[in-house]
Amino acid sequence: MSKQESMDKDTTDFGFKHVPRAEKQARVRGVFDRVAARYDVMNDLMSGGLHRVWKARMVEALYLPIKTEHKITMLDVAGGTGDIARRAWALAQARGVALDVCVIDINHEMLDVARQNPKNKNTPIKFMCGDAEHLPLADNSADIYTIAFGMRNMTDRARALREAWRVLKPGGRFVCLEFSQVPHAMVRRLYDAYSFQIIPAMGQLVIGEREPYQYLVESIRRFPAASDFADEIAAANFARVGFTRLSGGIAALHYAWRL
Ligand code: SAM
Repeated sequence: MSKQESMDKDTTDFGFKHVPRAEKQARVRGVFDRVAARYDVMNDLMSGGLHRVWKARMVEALYLPIKTEHKITMLDVAGGTGDIARRAWALAQARGVALDVCVIDINHEMLDVARQNPKNKNTPIKFMCGDAEHLPLADNSADIYTIAFGMRNMTDRARALREAWRVLKPGGRFVCLEFSQVPHAMVRRLYDAYSFQIIPAMGQLVIGEREPYQYLVESIRRFPAASDFADEIAAANFARVGFTRLSGGIAALHYAWRL
């Protein structure tokens, strides 16, 4: 094995840094420990509320049926403060569907914020601590798997995708919302300027921490382009993989089925 190959095997990216693979998860956990209390507020500030539009698109892509007798089981992995789970549950309520939703996240601080949020207290959403790369769930146990802004934080994305496939039932739906690469050069230049000059400074101002937001903007640049990520989903055995770019490619919604 060449020196370069051995480095690639032992290290991974953490934003623009290279860190030992064994360290990445603890570093990511540290990021979310630091931002948990103001996580939702910062999302609104940084995106000017756009994340709400993207999340609304995501829950539409779940293809929740209308008035089915059958109970539907959904896992919202890396679900953080429960935003996606709550939106999906509300949509299911409106459609007369019994939806059993469980948020799984590796970070206790994020789950504590979720459990204390009065908006979640009025729902039957369950919260569980767990790692997306080693889901504490049986094979074929869910109808829907969602992950929003979580994939970027994985140490081994291929493994997380295989876990998604494993826990889904045949016929199950996979939907991932994540930041993506902006294809248009002019838009990309403006977006880069906003990301690198404004977002970490905003983090410093609002939560007194710059580094978690420096990690955010760097990790976005390390995530594959939408078509490459679609190939990774297909490589995990998913079928009919598709994607939609959102807001000029700032984010992308990927969807697929486990057949
Ligand atoms: N899905 C939520 C949303 O859209 O608002 C939260 C997204 S937040 C950017 C990323 C979340 O991923 C954090 O809550 C973090 O703790 C979680 N996370 C990171 N690595 C994880 C892993 N290996 N397994 C499960 N959750 C993880």
